[in-house]
Amino acid sequence: MLISQYYDSHHFYEFVFFTFLAMLIYKQFTFDSAHFLPNVPARHKCNNVHGHTYKFTVFVEGDLQKEPGWVMDYADMKKAIMPVIEMIDHQFLNNIAGLENPTAELLVIWLWNKIKPRLPLLKRLELNETSSSGVIYEE
Ligand SMILES: [Zn+2]
Repeated sequence: MLISQYYDSHHFYEFVFFTFLAMLIYKQFTFDSAHFLPNVPARHKCNNVHGHTYKFTVFVEGDLQKEPGWVMDYADMKKAIMPVIEMIDHQFLNNIAGLENPTAELLVIWLWNKIKPRLPLLKRLELNETSSSGVIYEE
């Protein structure tokens, strides 16, 4: 049997659903925040207050559920994540408890600690400060 025929066959779907196919799904968000980095030398440009449009990608890992045919509802992901993003969107990060030194690395840990209790299947976070700079944090 050709592999393409196999993928189209009933046997493939039985194989998938009886072996609990784990998948990563993700949802992307953006938020705008101001910050400065207090621990860099005064001459470093990040010592000045400035802003970023952060790009934030949240990955959830779970088994493909047979009935809905998904890992989880993207709408439920959004519901879990948006209250956390609203805490930092259009805010001055340095004023928020736990974000006194808001590097991308420390911000992604802060985000993980806020989101994980709301989204137990959370597996990985990617946070981009710019289109070419970012951090990945995962379990
Ligand atoms: Zn910055």
